[in-house]
Amino acid sequence: MPELPEVETTRLGISPHISQKSVQQIIVRQRQLRWPIPDKLEATLTGLTIIKVKRRAKYLLLETCQDWVLMIHLGMSGNLRILRESEAAGKHDHLDIIFHDDTILRYNDVRKFGSVLLIKPPLFDHPLIKHLGPEPLSDAFNGQYLYEKAQNRKTAIKNLIMNSHVVVGVGNIYASEALFQAGIHPKKQVNHISLQNYMDLAKAIQNVLQNAITQGGTTLKDFVNEQGKPGYFQQSLSVYGRKGLACFQCKQPIENEKIGQRASYFCANCQR
Ligand code: ZN
Repeated sequence: MPELPEVETTRLGISPHISQKSVQQIIVRQRQLRWPIPDKLEATLTGLTIIKVKRRAKYLLLETCQDWVLMIHLGMSGNLRILRESEAAGKHDHLDIIFHDDTILRYNDVRKFGSVLLIKPPLFDHPLIKHLGPEPLSDAFNGQYLYEKAQNRKTAIKNLIMNSHVVVGVGNIYASEALFQAGIHPKKQVNHISLQNYMDLAKAIQNVLQNAITQGGTTLKDFVNEQGKPGYFQQSLSVYGRKGLACFQCKQPIENEKIGQRASYFCANCQR
């Protein structure tokens, strides 16, 4: 599933190819995604110029020269890529946005859990965005903020940092990795964690996400005329998926347990 770093890598990958270009034609081959692609998409977007590609949580926001914003979510299996010339569409290529210089932005989604919506500002008022917590890489997210959110709650720390009302974009892999970096056991109760530990954790979250985005940057060439899935990348992981393997710090075996329905990996020796 595309996580925040993949979505940010996608943003960085497509932005230079479509910004300041006007939409010449739109081809929708499949409207039934998580929500239907709006019927007015073709008539509304054709002729408009994409000014900027932004991101909020895992939503890509293509701002146009008018009030309309195209909001794309990649769902479980979606991806966007840039084509320089026309290429026969595959079974899961649901949408093409063709620009005046023949650049094509193609949306592919095998499982069709993604969405392509047309919305109007103010974006922060949109029901899908309104209740989201801060961006993890913004100044609004820090140890003090997390510490305050933890007061009067009783839940495992891993559940807190994966709650999108608290902070967006900390998926299962990144939550596991950040808790390992900060030396905090994923099941530790949120109200038993010190401010200092929350400061370490906030830094660890930013660190794992930023590293993944930096690693993703090396795949940016894949956004142009490549087959397959662009923007998804292998990462060097310390605990996630390493059940039974030796901890890189202490050599004890990594453990695996379900927390809040999600597979969680940790070192019981290094994480307390
Ligand atoms: Zn260890």
